[in-house]
Amino acid sequence: MSGTNQRIDGKRLWDSLMAMAEIGATPKGGVKRLTLTDVDKAGRDRFRGWCEALGLTVRVDSIGNMFARREGRDPARLPVLLGSHLDSQPTGGKFDGALGVIAGLEVMRSIHDLNIVTEAPIELVNWTDEEGSRFGHSLMGSGVWAGIYTQEKAYGLRDVDGVSVGDALDAIGYKGPHKAAPFPADAYFELHIEQGPILEREGKQIGVVTGAQVR
Ligand SMILES: [Zn+2]
Repeated sequence: MSGTNQRIDGKRLWDSLMAMAEIGATPKGGVKRLTLTDVDKAGRDRFRGWCEALGLTVRVDSIGNMFARREGRDPARLPVLLGSHLDSQPTGGKFDGALGVIAGLEVMRSIHDLNIVTEAPIELVNWTDEEGSRFGHSLMGSGVWAGIYTQEKAYGLRDVDGVSVGDALDAIGYKGPHKAAPFPADAYFELHIEQGPILEREGKQIGVVTGAQVR
């Protein structure tokens, strides 16, 4: 490739964000895509279809994390990871999480269109249950992957209807064959939007974040 910057297709990125936002769309313009529900499955299936259309190899681990891999030129290089989460809060916004996944997809699509072969492989990630709003445990997929929580503990968590994480993974067909365990990576990039422009537009005073939730 030349040394010039290549551009993504902004319209294609927007259209895919809107297509993902149709899944679990709420009347006020947000989404309700609670983790490991049929709605989450529909979002995952659409994401998987987009990845496979690009020739990416999608693998799913035992906590449902999805990794869509594009090989690089040098098999000795560690992968570069891109991604975020497709699940949402009960009254979530359409960009929170989805932007990080679909922006990564747009990167994959752009380098595919330009016939670029990268040195290192690239893996696009959809982490399971970042939000924690169904089973009460945020960052569950990445936490199990990283060894912060045991898989047994995660599988045993239950929602208000008594459905366990393990059963919910089975029900939507996303308890994958690959062990959820960390692997070395060269870098990880995540675009993330948590808030919309409404408070700013209305001139409301807001706080500044000085810490993060740790469980
Ligand atoms: Zn988020």
